[in-house]
Amino acid sequence: MKVRVLGCSGAIAKDCRTTSFLIDDNILIDAGTGVGDLTLEEMSKIDHVFLTHSHLDHIAALPLMLDAVTSMRSAPVRVHALSGTIAALQAHVFNDVIWPDFSAIPSAHQPFMRYHTIRTGQQINAGGILIEALPALHTVPAVGYAVRGADGWLAFSGDTGRNPAFWTRVNALPVALLIIETAFSNREVELANRSLHLSPSTLAEELTNILPGQRYPIYITHAKPSETGLIMEEIREFEVHMPQGFTAPHNIRWLQAGQKFVV
Ligand SMILES: [Zn+2]
Ligand SMILES: [Zn+2]
Repeated sequence: MKVRVLGCSGAIAKDCRTTSFLIDDNILIDAGTGVGDLTLEEMSKIDHVFLTHSHLDHIAALPLMLDAVTSMRSAPVRVHALSGTIAALQAHVFNDVIWPDFSAIPSAHQPFMRYHTIRTGQQINAGGILIEALPALHTVPAVGYAVRGADGWLAFSGDTGRNPAFWTRVNALPVALLIIETAFSNREVELANRSLHLSPSTLAEELTNILPGQRYPIYITHAKPSETGLIMEEIREFEVHMPQGFTAPHNIRWLQAGQKFVV
C-alpha cells in the first residue's frame, strides 16, 4: 500500500497544507488543503474519501475537488464519515448556499458524491484496502483510522484529546506506522485541553499506553505552523525522560507534506 502525505499542518501558509493523506491512487483520508497538490487527473481517480470529522481544515478541499472532477468521472465519489459529520456537511457546506448539494446533482439517482455512514470500530473494504474507524475524542464527532497494508497497519489518531480507547484498539493491531496529532505547544496546553487536541505533555502521557515491546515509527502531525519548532523542541525534551524501554529518541519524527511511505 502506498501512502502519500498531501498535507499535515494545523493551518495554512506558504508550504503548509492541512490534513490529507492519499492511499494508493484512489483513497483520501481527510480532504484538507493538501488535496490542491494533486493534478486534475490524480484528483479524478479518487473514489473514496474517509473523513475524520467535520472541521474545516479536514474538509476544505472536498467541495472544490468534487467540482473539479465532475466531468471526468462516471461513478460517484464515496464520502465515508460518522453520521454527525455527514449531517454537518449537509447542513453547513453542501446546502445549496455555500456549495451545491453534490449528493443530489446531476440527479439523486446518479449523483457526483454519495455519503456512506460509518460507525467507530467498523471496518470498510474500499476497493481492496481495509480501513477501520478508530475512536477519537474531539469537540465534534470524530474518528481516527487504521489502514491495512502488506507490512501492518497505518494508524492515524485524527484530531483528538486524551484517548484511552484508541490505544486499546491500536495495541491489538500489528501497527507498522503511527501518525498522531500534536496541535499545540505546552505553552498553549489549556487551549489544547479545551479544544481536545494534544500538546507535547499530553502526547508523552498518551505514548505511555503503547505496550512494552511494541516499537514502530511515530510521526507527529497537525502542528500549528507558528509553533512547529517549539513543539518539536518540547517533544525532544520529553523523549529523553520517557519510561525505560518505551522508545528510542529517533522513533518520533516529524511528518512532512510530500512524504511517501510503503506500508
Ligand atoms: Zn478538529
Ligand atoms: Zn484539525
